[in-house]
Amino acid sequence: MAGVTPNDAYPMISIEEAMETVLQRVEPLSPVKVSLEDSAGRVLALDIRSREDVPATPTTSRDGFAIDAGGKSTRRRVVGEQLAGRPVPVEVSVDTAVRITTGAPIPPGADAVIMVEDTEEEGEWVTLLRRMAPGDNIRPPGQDIESESLVLPRGTLIGPPEIGLLATLGHTHPRIYPRPRVAVMATGDEVVDPADEPSPGQIRNSNGHALMAAVRQAGGVPLSMGIARDQEDDVLSKLRQGFKLADVVITSGGVSVGKRDLVKPQLEKMGRIHFGRVAVKPGKPFTFATVDGKAAFGLPGFPVSSLVTFELFVRPALLKMQGRSDLFRPTRQVILDHSVDHSPGRTEFQRAILEERQGGLYARTTGDQVSGRLLSLVGANALLRLPQGVESFQAGETVTAVVTGDIPVRGVE
Ligand code: AMP
Ligand code: MG
Repeated sequence: MAGVTPNDAYPMISIEEAMETVLQRVEPLSPVKVSLEDSAGRVLALDIRSREDVPATPTTSRDGFAIDAGGKSTRRRVVGEQLAGRPVPVEVSVDTAVRITTGAPIPPGADAVIMVEDTEEEGEWVTLLRRMAPGDNIRPPGQDIESESLVLPRGTLIGPPEIGLLATLGHTHPRIYPRPRVAVMATGDEVVDPADEPSPGQIRNSNGHALMAAVRQAGGVPLSMGIARDQEDDVLSKLRQGFKLADVVITSGGVSVGKRDLVKPQLEKMGRIHFGRVAVKPGKPFTFATVDGKAAFGLPGFPVSSLVTFELFVRPALLKMQGRSDLFRPTRQVILDHSVDHSPGRTEFQRAILEERQGGLYARTTGDQVSGRLLSLVGANALLRLPQGVESFQAGETVTAVVTGDIPVRGVE
């Protein structure tokens, strides 16, 4: 393979440099218009301004009687009825009232609404049991939304209240950043479909399925490319297919220094590899390339390595493509419940369970941290970031944790 970098020749870069390189090379996808329903969880791609006041006219916030608060008499003749949604031409004077229901426009002549509870009705007369001031129980125009105001700025994450506002303003098809389509491809001669019975030496494809779920959780649309054999043409054709169908390609396996690790050389033939080794544990051979402007992430084959590097590098990239500005998980300082060993050559992310107790945030790891053991991720709500250069940590020491899940609180009085 003349002109292709050998797998062991990629310089090792820091996680910070890796993250920066990735984020420099991915951009928000071109905005599209979707239905209101489909906009939930998406990010707005343009400012939403109101062209109208909401409510548009003075409106009652109560069921009751529209009156002129300046009238002297406590008895008023009921001259009509103003129902929400059915405005009628009716007017109020100092000695009359109009029955009115919540949401109905205030009739001309009225400047207050007295609640039903504060009145007594008898025939066509109503007695006011309390004095009212102008403006009482009236929602002025623009109380909820003022005309010309910036209601939702570009970049807003759309949830239920935002959908409500879009509906209020008649935006039935808001412009949003779409979900990235992400091709997920497993590699390995030993890897078989989970439905198959593995022969000796074979294993079932866990990464493909775990990564598709991770893509979905990060807001993307996963597309399965199946399992590529460790052969150049199979890896190449599945990669091509991935770039054709998707915005991003993710592979698992085939990026370390074995003879049949073919992902890096194929990516290099198709585009450009920006880095092929990162000082991170797990995940050293994590690879990032671009092919015709599209990102490709070569994740390591060990199941924990693939999910941890997805969490660290791919998730923020997918969020950026969706127009999100909150790309990273929160971090917290946590107290170790027990001593932790760590090989100081790389920044290590140990899977851990955080728990709040007696005012402190405590961490314990999820047991054996070998990178094949997926159970070390089960129940974990954090990754402990153990820095390069430090050998081990004692119980009671403080380390930084990347918080990936909910933190339970124990023993609250
Ligand atoms: P590789 O980087 O291809 O040498 O793979 C490293 C380890 O991860 C090997 O033990 C593989 O069997 C395992 N592995 C690779 N791909 C998968 C996969 N899709 N599902 C589960 N394990 C895998
Ligand atoms: Mg392999």
